[in-house]
Amino acid sequence: MLTDTHAHLYYPEILDRLEDVLKSAIDSGIGRIIAPAVNLETSLKVLELSKANSEIYCALGIHPCDVMKVKDNELEEIESLIGSGKVVAVGETGLDYYWDVSSIDIQKEFFRKQIRIASENDLPVIVHTRNSLDDAVSIIREEYGRYPVKAHFHCFSGNRDQLRDCLSIPGVYISFCGNITYKKSGMDEVIAEVPPGRLLSETDSPFLPPVPYRGKANQPAYMIKTIEKIAEVKGTDAGELSEILSENAAEFFRFGKH
Ligand SMILES: [Zn+2]
Repeated sequence: MLTDTHAHLYYPEILDRLEDVLKSAIDSGIGRIIAPAVNLETSLKVLELSKANSEIYCALGIHPCDVMKVKDNELEEIESLIGSGKVVAVGETGLDYYWDVSSIDIQKEFFRKQIRIASENDLPVIVHTRNSLDDAVSIIREEYGRYPVKAHFHCFSGNRDQLRDCLSIPGVYISFCGNITYKKSGMDEVIAEVPPGRLLSETDSPFLPPVPYRGKANQPAYMIKTIEKIAEVKGTDAGELSEILSENAAEFFRFGKH
């Protein structure tokens, strides 16, 4: 059973037809979906969705693009929700230098705090990066010296050197989104080098739909196209790769064991 480890199910284009979206996912062999949050409001939302639907699990946290908007104690409130439902990770957190460079110091502070919260609660952390991969890897490496950090670098877009750097830290897994199916993605050589044992599957729904769904809202069922692309680049069978991806997600997020 595959897991879409990253789908923002609370966007109206998905939420308004959630039943159909879940059915399509299940029909495509995707039996679990992790909905990550970006702040307190969405943390409450994904927690509620995970309680109402057996297929849905959630990650609670504050996104780097939200750190300037959060209220005092918002992270503490989010932390207090861990353990109250099917929370399998902290996130998404990380660093984003594309939208707002003025908040870099605060982003780093929130990132470190969330890594610690994750480790103290024996959970992995879901990491977003944009133009910030090297700094994010450095922080994970530093924190790894203090805590047994498990980190998922979602929507990986680095080069081969950055991939090696990332995977040199034990406990780091990565995943690719549908944009690797686009003609100009330039990611084939990176995909070729990722050991299947360190790879997770995701969509980042409703964003980054794979070919042939460009222009539509992405949804978990479309993840199969991204897996097919990875299998093609690696010269392996998509079914075999799916089995490995299924096991990786179950081992990394430990569904049902919290
Ligand atoms: Zn996301």
